[in-house]
Amino acid sequence: MSRRISILGATGSVGSATLDLISRAEPGAFEFAALTANANVAALAEIARVHRPEIAVIGDERLAGDLAEALAGTGIETAAGPEALIEAASRPVDYTMAAIVGSAGLRPAAAALQAGSILALANKECLVCAGDYFMELAETRGARILPVDSEHNAIFQAIYPGHEKHIRRIILTASGGPFRDWPVEKMSGVSRADALAHPVWSMGDKISIDSATLMNKGLEVIEACRLFRLPPAQVDVVVHRQSVIHGLVEYIDGSVLAQLGSPDMRIPIASTLAWPERMETPSEPLNLAALARLDFEAPDEIRFPALRIAREALLAGEGATSCLNAANEVAVEAFLAGRVGFLDIPGLVSDCLEAMDRKSMLPKRFAGIDDALNVDRRARDIVSQCMTGIPA
Ligand code: NDP
Repeated sequence: MSRRISILGATGSVGSATLDLISRAEPGAFEFAALTANANVAALAEIARVHRPEIAVIGDERLAGDLAEALAGTGIETAAGPEALIEAASRPVDYTMAAIVGSAGLRPAAAALQAGSILALANKECLVCAGDYFMELAETRGARILPVDSEHNAIFQAIYPGHEKHIRRIILTASGGPFRDWPVEKMSGVSRADALAHPVWSMGDKISIDSATLMNKGLEVIEACRLFRLPPAQVDVVVHRQSVIHGLVEYIDGSVLAQLGSPDMRIPIASTLAWPERMETPSEPLNLAALARLDFEAPDEIRFPALRIAREALLAGEGATSCLNAANEVAVEAFLAGRVGFLDIPGLVSDCLEAMDRKSMLPKRFAGIDDALNVDRRARDIVSQCMTGIPA
C-alpha cells in the first residue's frame, strides 16, 4: 500500500536526501501530497515533474507566476506564500518531512502535526523555539514526532521502549566542525568558504556554519532536552571526529547503548520514512576494521562559546532559546553575506540575549507559537541594531 507524504523544504539538503531514498523505493510505495521550497522555482518544478505531487508551493509570494508557468500543463496545482505553505502542510498525509530551515518552518510543521501526520522533524528550530507547544500538540493530536537530526535519531533508536525512566544521561556526539584544530588567533580570519567546508557532513549553508561555531550542538542540546523530556544536566556532548557514533544513552545500571552508522543523512531519514519498520539505503556499510579507531574529546567552550551560550539560554527558558535562535539566524546570514566576521556570531547572539533580558522580553514559557514568533521578530530587530553599532 502506498504511503502519502509531504516534504516541506524539498529542494534543500535534507529534502533532496529524502527524495533520493524515495526514488530508490519500489514504484508506487510513496505518493506525494505537497512539495515545497522558498525561492528555487527551477528546482521545485523539476522535482515536481518527477514526483507528481498534488500541489507544489513556493514560499516567496512574488514567485507565484513563475511557478505556475513552470508547471503549466502538468495538472499539478501551484500556490505561493506563507499561508499557502500552511495550507499545503495541513493536507492529510501519513508522513511529513519538516525540512524548512529556520524559524520559518515553525508554522508549516505545526500545521502538519495539527493534521495528525507523523512528523519527521529535521527543523530543530521547532523544538528550540517552541518545544513545549510542539510536544503538547503531538500528544493531544496523538501524532508522532520522529527526530531526523542524526544525534537525536540515534538516541531515539537507542532508547529501549519503557526504559525512559532508567536513563542516567544521553550523549550527543559532535564532529567538532572544520575549525576543531585551529588556534583561536587564526579563527578571526575565517572565510565563508573555510566555514562551509565541513570535514564530515554535506549540509545546507546555515547548519554548516552552525556546525563550525558549535551553535548547532547548542541547538541540539536544547532540542534533545525538549524532545526526550530530560533536564539539561542529563544531556552531554562529546567531540567524536569520525562521526560514526551519533548518539549514546547511558542507563542507571551503567549500560551504554549507542547507534553507529556512516555519516550519511539518508540513514536517519530512512529510519523515519520506514518507521516502525526498516528500509534499505545506498549508504556505505561501516567497515570497523578499516576505521581502526574512534576518538573522543571534550568540547572546547573557550574557542567555541556558542555551546555555553546555548546551555545558558536553555536554563533561562523558551524566550531565551527563541531569541538565541533568531539572533543566530541573522548573525549567520550576515556572516555568509560578508557583513560580520566568524567570531562575531556568538558575540552578537550573546549581546541580543542580554539586551532582551534587560528589557524583560524573555518569558520562561510560551503559551503558544505566536509568542515564540513575537520573540523571534524582536530578536531579529535587536540583533540587526547590534550589528549597526546602535545600542540596543
Ligand atoms: P537547506 O538550506 O539545504 O534547505 C532548506 C529548505 O527550506 C529549502 O527547500 C529552502 O527552499 C526552504 N526554505 C528556506 N527558507 C524558507 C522559508 N522562509 N520558507 C519556506 N521554505 C524555506 O537546509 P538543510 O536541508 O540543510 O536543513 C533543513 C533543516 O534540517 C534545518 O533546520 C537544519 O538544521 C536541519 N538539519 C539538517 C541536516 C543536514 O544534513 N542538512 C542535518 C540535521 C538537521 P529554497 O531551496 O527555495 O531556498
